[in-house]
Amino acid sequence: MTARILDGKAVAQMVRAEVRAGAEALAARDVRPGLVVVLVGEDPASQVYVRNKDKAAREAGFEVRTVRLAATARQAELEAEVRALNAVRAVHGILVPLPLPKGLDADRVVRLIDPAKDVDGLTPENVAALAMGRPGLRPCTPAGCIELCDRHAIALEGKDVVVVGRSMLVGKPFALLALERNATVTIAHSRTRDLAEHVRRADVVVAAVGRPALVKGDWIRPGAAVLDVGINRLADGRLVGDVDFETAKERAGWITPVPGGVGPMTIAMLLANTLQAAALQTGNSLPARTRSVASTS
Ligand code: NDP
Repeated sequence: MTARILDGKAVAQMVRAEVRAGAEALAARDVRPGLVVVLVGEDPASQVYVRNKDKAAREAGFEVRTVRLAATARQAELEAEVRALNAVRAVHGILVPLPLPKGLDADRVVRLIDPAKDVDGLTPENVAALAMGRPGLRPCTPAGCIELCDRHAIALEGKDVVVVGRSMLVGKPFALLALERNATVTIAHSRTRDLAEHVRRADVVVAAVGRPALVKGDWIRPGAAVLDVGINRLADGRLVGDVDFETAKERAGWITPVPGGVGPMTIAMLLANTLQAAALQTGNSLPARTRSVASTS
């Protein structure tokens, strides 16, 4: 069997077109979604993410701006920037790409972001909302994984879902989103005793670790859906995920490529979150399709 591809590029295009339509609906009411990225230092992955996001946000009709602070910026300076943005009405979404340079306390910065503007879904208020099944802004990457499943009619209800990785950014929130969809969820991590055994039982595998080919093809249950969140650059310059794609695709029913799978969905969901945040902050409602999984429970 050769797996069908979960085409993140194509689905992201659809989501982005819907976001654009939503932004047009808001524009008719004199609201332009505003997103500000506070980029600290020169982290290369963050720089690329910011460039791609910038372009996508402009195409969606958003007002987008990047505030750049030097890697040597002090905590107080960064916090003052976030506080100031919280107070600007035209700014509906604030994003602080992580990791921050050494010496800066990311936790404190994230906690300062107004939860209504927290388009990354990382503030304690939004994390609690997700855990409690209440409406809130959901983290973009795991929300993108759910959206990919939804748009390929991969139901999670009753399924065994194994999430490899337990970060606050991907693993944990994905597990909660899958639980919300009535999946039976296992979260594996670096201390998990027999990872292969867990993966072998999974109907859906989500790999979010950051280690090339950690998940072997012969671990995949025939017909399973495999979502590979990992992004790893090999010595020869190639980008690969955490799953051994070539062997896994011979057993899986569905699989995401890297690049072109989960990555494009992260940006699409960031736009969906910003649109939703703008609508909520301005007392507007959006057409049903643009009220994406990213923002509602
Ligand atoms: P973190 O480093 O925060 O978390 C990695 C997780 O993997 C940890 O929970 C860790 O366990 C677990 N882990 C490490 N080694 C193993 C192992 N041998 N077996 C099982 N689990 C292990 O990473 P992120 O969640 O932030 O990111 C994960 C990957 O996803 C990275 O490659 C990142 O670049 C990529 N990414 C991609 C995005 C996209 O848009 N496609 C967006 C965000 C991230 P423990 O907790 O025990 O240490």
